[in-house]
Amino acid sequence: MCSRVIVMYAGKIVEEAPVEILFNNPTHPYTQGLIASVPKLGSGVKVLPSIPGSVPDLSSMPEGCRFAPRCKYATEKCRTQEPPLAVVGENQKCRCWLKIEE
Ligand code: SF4
Repeated sequence: MCSRVIVMYAGKIVEEAPVEILFNNPTHPYTQGLIASVPKLGSGVKVLPSIPGSVPDLSSMPEGCRFAPRCKYATEKCRTQEPPLAVVGENQKCRCWLKIEE
């Protein structure tokens, strides 16, 4: 049982929110990918979606956003500048340029 969820990717917090908000409105592309891969009974889906690529080598992290090599929204800024963990909604934080600049 918990009231808040923290999602981490490659050693960094990428999203933090109360449980209901995080599951109903995930803002980070990694969290969105995780939630999309949760099986739903009766959905008829035979193959669950997965996040392409793999976790980076912890001894040589990519510059900028650590999720950029796997993110379909990645821009040049994502590949060169690490986004901060920023407040993006009531009680919700996200480490993503896409949400920060929205
Ligand atoms: S900062 Fe860029 S690469 Fe990282 S998760 Fe957000 S959109 Fe994707």
